[in-house]
Amino acid sequence: MGNDLKASVLHLYKEHYLCNKKWCSYKRNPDKYRTTVSLTSLSLRQKLAEIVGEYTSGDNIEKIAPCASTKEVECFHSMLANKAPKAKHLCSSTSLECRVDCTVAQKNISYGYISQVYEECGISPGKINEKLSEKLAVKRKLKMITRIQQKINGENYVENRL
Ligand SMILES: [Zn+2]
Repeated sequence: MGNDLKASVLHLYKEHYLCNKKWCSYKRNPDKYRTTVSLTSLSLRQKLAEIVGEYTSGDNIEKIAPCASTKEVECFHSMLANKAPKAKHLCSSTSLECRVDCTVAQKNISYGYISQVYEECGISPGKINEKLSEKLAVKRKLKMITRIQQKINGENYVENRL
């Protein structure tokens, strides 16, 4: 995955020697390849290489995609899509940053993050809020246990929506 990330920068500059056939249509068929994005700025290229280099260096690549799986990232995107739906134009709104922050908090510390924010602000989280957070956290854990049990049994996970 690290090589693919590095190759993606070069790909944008029409250099395909590191590209993978899985995602580079030039590698699959150079005669029919039509570039969609072609960059020429060398300063941008250097900056992009630096940014990608940060993600691919050391064990950072393992953090991005543990065991070369993007499940965690896809899970985060799904959670973010619930808080900031694509159908609504939120990128110019200041609420987007808050929505992303809430998603990160939910991913890292589960639903109890709302109570923690209240407590940090010196406000009582409220009994209803705490009960709801606990209920959602339990539901999340049960879902995970069900998934693991189904995986162990070789079954495909089927989400039960109420
Ligand atoms: Zn390519």
